[in-house]
Formats: sequence, C-alpha cells, structure tokens
Amino acid sequence: MNILILGSGGREHALAWATAQNPKCDKLFVAPGNAGIAELATCVALDINDGAAVVTFAEKEAIDFVIIGPEAPLAAGVSDTLRTAGILTFGPSAAAAQLEASKAFTKEICDASGAPTAGYAHFTEHGPARAYVQAQGAPIVIKADGLAAGKGVVVAMTLEEALEAVDDMFGGSLGTAGAEVVIEEFMEGEEASFFVLCDGEEALPLGTAQDHKRVGEGDTGPNTGGMGAYSPAPVMTDEIIAKTMEEIVRPTLREMARRGTPYQGVLFVGLMIKDGAPRLVEYNARFGDPECQVLMMRLGAQAFDHIQAAAEGRLNEAKVHWADDHALTVVMAAKGYPAAYEKGTVIRGLEALPQSSSQMVFHAGTARSAETVTAVGGRVLAVTARADTLEEAHRLAYDMTRQIDWPEGFFRSDIGWRALK
Ligand code: AMP
Repeated sequence: MNILILGSGGREHALAWATAQNPKCDKLFVAPGNAGIAELATCVALDINDGAAVVTFAEKEAIDFVIIGPEAPLAAGVSDTLRTAGILTFGPSAAAAQLEASKAFTKEICDASGAPTAGYAHFTEHGPARAYVQAQGAPIVIKADGLAAGKGVVVAMTLEEALEAVDDMFGGSLGTAGAEVVIEEFMEGEEASFFVLCDGEEALPLGTAQDHKRVGEGDTGPNTGGMGAYSPAPVMTDEIIAKTMEEIVRPTLREMARRGTPYQGVLFVGLMIKDGAPRLVEYNARFGDPECQVLMMRLGAQAFDHIQAAAEGRLNEAKVHWADDHALTVVMAAKGYPAAYEKGTVIRGLEALPQSSSQMVFHAGTARSAETVTAVGGRVLAVTARADTLEEAHRLAYDMTRQIDWPEGFFRSDIGWRALK
C-alpha cells in the first residue's frame, strides 16, 4: 500500500516507524514530517488542514490509505473530505471529533450514555459562570469549551484562581475557544490514559499509558504537551480496563452511532481512577504525544494492521498480540519551553545511538540543514526504550539521553517515578 501520514511530531514519527516495518507498506509519505521521519519516509510540504490539498496530493501519488495524526485536521474535517473522495482514512469525522473539540459536547454524550464523569455546568455568559464558581467554591476545574492546545484547563485550588480563570476565558485570553466554558467538579484519584481503536461499532483496547504533563521534576511547574510517558500504566488493571470499556467506551460509541456520527479512529480516554472506579476526565480524538511513542514501541509493525482494520470496519477480526513488556519515553525539549525558547540550535550525537525494535529516538521539532540536525520546536526528541521491566526501559532510555549532545536542551530526570517507586 502507498500510505500517507499527516503530522510532524514524535507521535507521527512513531506511527511512521511502526508502519514502515509492516510488509504491507510500499511507499510511505509523511506531511509535513521532520528530520527523523525523513530517514524512513518521504516528507512532503502540505497544508494538512486543507482537505482539498491533501486529496490532490493523495490522488497524484496513488495513496491507498491516509492516517491522520493530530487533532487540527480532524476538527477541520479533513477525514470527511478524504472519505468523500473515496480515499481510505484513519481518523474520525469532524462531527465525531467533537469528542475532543468541544468539552460541552463530551459532557452531553456522558449525560446521554451514562458514562461516569465529573459533575459540571456549562456557561456562555460571564456573570452566571462567576456566580456558579462562587457558590461551588474551590477546588474546582475551569475548562474552555474549544481546542486550546492544552492551555484550556485550569485546575483551581483556590476561589481566587478559579474566578481569575473564568475572567480570563470570558475576557478572550483563548480566543473563541473560551467563548463557552465548562465548570467541573474537581476529581481526586490517579490519572491514566487508555487507547481504544474504534471502527464505528467495534472497539479494540490498544494499551494504557501514563504521562508527565508538568515541566518540572516531581510533576511541578507549568503544563506542557507532555515531558515523558510509560506503558503500561500499573493502575489500569484488567478489571479497570473491563469496567472502562463497559461503563464509558461502549456506551459512548453506541451514543455516537445512535446520533448518526459513528466514531472511527483512535479514542484517547483520559481517566481518573479512585477506589477501583474509573471516571472520564476527557476524550481526545487522536493518539497522545508522547503516549503514542511508547504504544508504538510496544506494538511494532502490528499497530498498522489494527489501524487499517479500524479504518476498514474490520476490528471484529483484529487481535492485539501483547508481549509482557514495558516502554518508557523521555522528552527532550528546548530550554525555556513551555514559554519562549531558542530555535535553530544544533543537536549532536544522534547518529551513534541505536535504532532498533527496543530503542529509538523519535523526532518532534527537528529539521536537517546540511549535515546537522537542528531543534525547531519546543518538544524536540522523544527518547524511547522497551524492555522486560520498566526499570530496564528507564535505564536504556536515560542512557541514550546522556549520549545526546545538545546544551540548549533539557529533560526531566524522573519520568516514570510513580510506577518505579
Ligand atoms: P483535560 O484537558 O480535560 O484532560 O484536562 C487537563 C488536565 O487537567 C487533566 O489531565 C487533569 O490532570 C486535570 N483535570 C481535568 N479535569 C479535571 C477534574 N474534573 N478534576 C481533577 N483534575 C482534572
């Protein structure tokens, strides 16, 4: 098959890496890709949020299958445009991607399907939102309704913080994403991410992970896109997975199908687990980054077969072949991230690192100029390893980070601490 993957992050490098290993893969294109992806695929400059441009490219290159990585093209309806053009596509329709693009929509689906989640209220006006926060008190969670690149959620531990968040969002700090606000009960417990492939009807659990969102050691400091992750998540026992499928995932998929907007793609289920009971924190309509890196490292080439089965509506035939293994990824970011950082700094030492089925440096914000790899983004590399134990995966990944010569970069030294302690 000729395959096109849309995206340019560590997630898409991991998807391309797994796909390239599958014997079904003939030509592999990634748009726009990055320096790491360019080593295993042809990178193409394309506006991936422009469905018509993607269709034109796909037709010119006789693409058989398009895999959509990030949320923006999903919300923009690129999967709809591709399917209308008769091109097999992995990723939900714009209507189904509302599960990520609108927090209020997801809450409505939870109400209709009975999926357990935090109690909430939904506001389109500043005054009533403020009054509600004052009546509820803190801790409380304030969420912009729309896509806000991970900046739309404030977990407020004090009333002042909560009111400030409401004022900011209605004041336009997040643009239209904050024109509607969901205010939620604060949930206690342990968080985990659960990934399920969906073909509109069937659902196939693909794996669990935990990530580290905060920039600083000990999970402190501002939120980021994710500074590291590991899989599996110990808190996601078989029993909790079964409960999540029964109480949250299947009812959601039934409700989406009932509304005439069946969900096809990967459903990223963000959970809070307390006393053996999972509750939904959020859905995302794509793989997590860096969770995808650890999932792909564990699944390898078979990941592509399952992704294809989801797109073709054949998940009833799919079966994941799990090994009893662990993977861990350490994100290297440009100093200053998630605030301002320098671009164009040189990264050395990558060529000497292993590239195997159990050790891989996935690239995110990198570019190649002549013989050097330069950093062009905030999160730049995802240094990933797989082993029989989490301890060993941790050791292998950190060994690699030490061989990377990039004075302008940094990473957290405590990825996996919760599971390792
Ligand atoms: P979200 O984008 O909805 O996943 O929220 C980002 C992060 O905020 C989550 O990963 C949680 O750590 C936290 N969070 C969101 N909603 C809640 C809640 N109702 N209670 C506690 N923490 C929450």
